[in-house]
Amino acid sequence: MCEKCSDIKLVKLFRSPMEYTQTVEYIKALIAGGDFTLVSGNCPLDGVKDADGHWADDIIYHLIRCENCKQEFSCCCNTYRGGGSFGKGR
Ligand SMILES: [Zn+2]
Repeated sequence: MCEKCSDIKLVKLFRSPMEYTQTVEYIKALIAGGDFTLVSGNCPLDGVKDADGHWADDIIYHLIRCENCKQEFSCCCNTYRGGGSFGKGR
């Protein structure tokens, strides 16, 4: 990790849907800031919920990378059973 990503706010366990959606907003802000890029994901970051408020999938994941040091961070949420995390690595 480098100075761009060493103070990134990681979440060991999402305890509520709101904590997950806040993390998605945080990830969008990291990418908008220009130091991180989206590597992969199973839905758009803007589309984890549709217009009716339904989750895009039972398990939603996104992988981002720090462009300065190439460290990857993954965000995965089980919207069906609850749980998930935002952490270092895949
Ligand atoms: Zn970095």
